[in-house]
Amino acid sequence: TKIVVIGGGAAGLKAAARARRRDEEAEITVIEAGEYPSMSRCGLPYYIEGLVHEIENLLQTTYGAVRTPEFFKRVKNIDVLTKTKAKRIDREKKVVEIERNGSSDELPYDYLVIATGSKPARPQIPGIDAEGVVHLHSAEDAEKIVEAWEDGAEEAVIIGGGLIGMECAEALSRLDMKVTMVEIMDHILPTLLDAEMAALVKAHLKENGVEVLTGYRVEEIVTDGEAVSGVKIGEKVMPAQLVLIATGVRPNVELAKSAGLEIGETGAIKVNKYLQTSDPSIYAGGDCVENIHILTGKPIYAPLGSTANKHGRVMGDNVTGGKSTFPGVIGTTIFKVFDFTVARTGLTEKEARQLGYDVITAIAPSPDRFHHYPGQKPIRVKIIADKSGKLLGAQAVGLGVVDKRIDVLATAIQMGATIDDVANLDLAYAPPFSMALDTVIVAANIARNKRDGLIESISAEELRKKIESDEDFIILDVRTDEEAEKNPLEDRRVIHIPLDRLRESVDKLPKDREIFTVCQVGARGYEAARFLIQKGFRAKMVEGGMAILG
Ligand code: FAD
Repeated sequence: TKIVVIGGGAAGLKAAARARRRDEEAEITVIEAGEYPSMSRCGLPYYIEGLVHEIENLLQTTYGAVRTPEFFKRVKNIDVLTKTKAKRIDREKKVVEIERNGSSDELPYDYLVIATGSKPARPQIPGIDAEGVVHLHSAEDAEKIVEAWEDGAEEAVIIGGGLIGMECAEALSRLDMKVTMVEIMDHILPTLLDAEMAALVKAHLKENGVEVLTGYRVEEIVTDGEAVSGVKIGEKVMPAQLVLIATGVRPNVELAKSAGLEIGETGAIKVNKYLQTSDPSIYAGGDCVENIHILTGKPIYAPLGSTANKHGRVMGDNVTGGKSTFPGVIGTTIFKVFDFTVARTGLTEKEARQLGYDVITAIAPSPDRFHHYPGQKPIRVKIIADKSGKLLGAQAVGLGVVDKRIDVLATAIQMGATIDDVANLDLAYAPPFSMALDTVIVAANIARNKRDGLIESISAEELRKKIESDEDFIILDVRTDEEAEKNPLEDRRVIHIPLDRLRESVDKLPKDREIFTVCQVGARGYEAARFLIQKGFRAKMVEGGMAILG
């Protein structure tokens, strides 16, 4: 069998390697336009920061071998043709036309794998072609950024507050650059997090010296001669010697499109569950295809390295006689920014509401391990469920261990779990690892309380809006005297009664007004609200407490 793979990235090389493991006799050729096969793009921010010292390190296997074409030939008997471009697919003749060293050739195939990846989006901003305006997509891009820094760039503007923007904000700050991030939407990470969770990340960026402007459109990239000198935002020009465009990626579909293969509604190649395109001899995977969202059943463009590798395996199976399937994705994503880990899975609250779900949410702020155990750090977990209890999404951010929480919740969502299932998960516990009731269990319990009508809550955002209005209500601060003094909640409607004095002072509270109970993270606010409700007050807790309110 002749197997040709277009694209020597994560999906393409995984498909080739898997195919070889299943079929020693197949002739396998990978065509790669760039200089390097199998470059880990995910490692590029760490190369810029200096944590990964050489680009070559991003080409290595776990045992240190460099993945050169010679390596693939020697170890896997796969022909990797670098600096070779696939120009056209002739589906009738079953050949790929390639261009190599200025000359053309044809490669015949029985099965073709398209794994052409993605390319960075380029918004129509005047001045975008100036010197010093970069993306971060390839090794060359990373090298350009390092060179700009070596040439003395001190101020950087990052356009786009998504995952790559975040990772670069950290990398450039670690190089002592002054970083400003501009996001057109009203909060950063608009497709990944809900506003209140994104606000925590924004605060952390600010603590680390990154200026964050949300709700701003970049009008123009200002130049001095050929080189960038600033970015015009509103009437203001932010000085910058480096501008990073991080406004997402688009699927690389030109080749597939010109071959007449079906393109989906997201603009990426449409594939079935076997990752087969509209031509049964051609498979496609990685950043160039769309996926099915497991929760909504709808197509989604969610380009990630984790998914590309899974696609590669499925394609490798199916071009060697297998019948493997890929079920789709739920959008699980994680990244690190300074000391924060940020992760999410499933639907955001906003998406779930837009899709018409009757939504319940819960935010559980807690230490990531037993609160007296040395090194414990705070995390916040938000879960989104529908009124039937079905888990729809989760977000987790903080200084502590977030990854295992999101992975537990991602697993639960993918298996169709309810909040009741999560509340009783038999998770591992000892003080160095979690609280006796892990944060995901606490979050599920809060959601159950809400579903069962034991408690109503308002979000910190809603309370903030109420504070700005002249409505009449009570904010009951149940924190300790010390906590309230250290970080006072100032408003004429605030009454401060610590939880341990609430029972004796309950007569001081009016029954004719709504009471919003606030503590540091939410647990005491919940207890206070439950007590007051049972005493006939109209009480609601403030979700996430001062930790979210600020
Ligand atoms: P690619 O790896 O892009 O490979 C496609 C290859 O096809 C390219 O090498 C290209 O040169 C080649 N090609 C295209 N057209 C042709 C042609 N006509 N002829 C020949 N060759 C062609 N994902 C995560 O899951 N976690 C992360 O932490 C993460 N971090 C990231 C950080 C950065 C800075 C970037 C840029 C991406 C990150 N990603 C991350 C995304 C991840 O890198 C991609 O999802 C993954 O590389 C996709 O793999 P792929 O094989 O589909 O595409």
